[in-house]
Amino acid sequence: MSLASRDQHVLWHPYTQMQTAPLPIPVVRGEGAWLVAEDGTRYLDAIASWWVNLHGHAHPHIARRVSEQLHTLAHVLFAGFTHPAAVELAEGLLRILPANQQRVFYSDNGATAIEVALKMAFQYFHNLGQLERRTVVAFRDSYHGDTFGAMSVSARSTFTAPFAPLLFEVQFIDVPVPGCEAAALAQLDAVLAAHDVAAFIFEPLVLGTAGMVMYEPAALDALIHRCRAHGALTIADEVMTGFGRTGRLFAADFLQEQPDIICLSKGLTGGTMALGATTCTAPIYEAFLSDDRTRTFFHGHSYTANPVACTAGLASLELLLTPESAADRARVAECHAVFVRELQGQAGIAQVRQRGTILAVEFQVAEGTSYFSRLRDEFYALGLERGVLLRPLGNIVYVLPPYCITNDELQVVYDTLRAMRELVLRPATASVLAGLPEFPHD
Ligand SMILES: *Cc1c(COP(=O)(O)O)cnc(C)c1O
Repeated sequence: MSLASRDQHVLWHPYTQMQTAPLPIPVVRGEGAWLVAEDGTRYLDAIASWWVNLHGHAHPHIARRVSEQLHTLAHVLFAGFTHPAAVELAEGLLRILPANQQRVFYSDNGATAIEVALKMAFQYFHNLGQLERRTVVAFRDSYHGDTFGAMSVSARSTFTAPFAPLLFEVQFIDVPVPGCEAAALAQLDAVLAAHDVAAFIFEPLVLGTAGMVMYEPAALDALIHRCRAHGALTIADEVMTGFGRTGRLFAADFLQEQPDIICLSKGLTGGTMALGATTCTAPIYEAFLSDDRTRTFFHGHSYTANPVACTAGLASLELLLTPESAADRARVAECHAVFVRELQGQAGIAQVRQRGTILAVEFQVAEGTSYFSRLRDEFYALGLERGVLLRPLGNIVYVLPPYCITNDELQVVYDTLRAMRELVLRPATASVLAGLPEFPHD
């Protein structure tokens, strides 16, 4: 039996309708920006394997460091004990994060980094005796993860519908995309006036799952400023935007107003293993210091600060901070910018957006623009046929590559996007799409 068939007998994949999904592609190796399948087919990983990979697959530097760590100390509990990798990674992160970030709390992934941030914010006010501060504000189209707290502060959608009654109430405001800044600010003002807001959580500058929706730093500065004036905490979910994605090390580096709490994961280990981190300011940390043990932050995971994951984080950070990596990020951004200029105003293109190494092309289609649309499946298949892994969000196709991707490889990706535009322009497409029912695919 093939690996894919054996998989089908025992596994259950994320975001996958197992009845209708095609067989999974068995990947046996990765190198640079490429994934190599069992049958030798090579796929250019234009989405960094769900936004995690920074320096390329199976990077030898990370591999060597992780291997050494595995031979030295694979794990130790993190209450009452510490180890070099946890300390060095925390020091390294605080060195490059906004200056107000003073403490690092480790967890296991993006969703847990969010849970930690929310619990930190709630208990901060609890410890201060401000028990009435319970409201969280979030962007209407946000995505912060799949655990219950993270789902609660994320967009209400098909994905969260089965759990809707179990999610805590959140005040949603619009994303301040260009032209809508004043409306979003007015909505926030109304919420701040009517509720005791504990925290405002947001994806800074780029909302990933919403379709790489982008907005300007000044708009976020205004929102953070308002929250601060009302004594509410601000939580930047940099799980996707962190570690150079946006052209600077963190999206917060574009801001004048710094968030109180920052959530990190995805690129934290360069895309090699799961690790989350939540960082906070000194005042937040200090609100948990007390002779009274009930003020302790009672949160942890068995693998908190796992030495192997922390070492992967350190090795990735070392690569990220080399001049070569900075040059790669600038080069990818420049290639994107040239392609953006080519596409702008072309037939079949509704909008092209870019922030640093993230490019999003929104195709013009009359109907069926949701995640479940048929076009999404056609785009996905077209990419794979050309050996390019792209995972469209409905009619939005984004490119978010490992920074090591070469200019020639980027051209292969752009050629695929050009072919997608041809597909959209095909006279048959629009009418076919208009008549199609939406169906959940994955
Ligand atoms: C992916 C993502 C998360 C969730 O991270 P997981 O590691 O998948 O739990 C949270 N926030 C943002 C912005 C993300 O992109």
